[in-house]
Amino acid sequence: MIHADRTRCCGAGMCVLIAPDVFHQDEDGLVLVDADAVRAADPDLLRHAVSCCPGQALSEDEDAPLLERR
Ligand code: SF4
Repeated sequence: MIHADRTRCCGAGMCVLIAPDVFHQDEDGLVLVDADAVRAADPDLLRHAVSCCPGQALSEDEDAPLLERR
């Protein structure tokens, strides 16, 4: 699963560009994560979104790592 720390999100929207089915932005531009879409998404694409976040707001949930989904 993906954890989003909205206090770190700067609203750059990189995650939305990379995985528009998974990440969305609220009216203030802050990230929203669709948990159902995370489960259906390519883990490599999710990791790419995590690594590209300029605010380091996204992280892989250690209790439910994406790696186990492969
Ligand atoms: S890429 Fe990071 S900073 Fe930008 S909207 Fe997504 S979570 Fe927020």
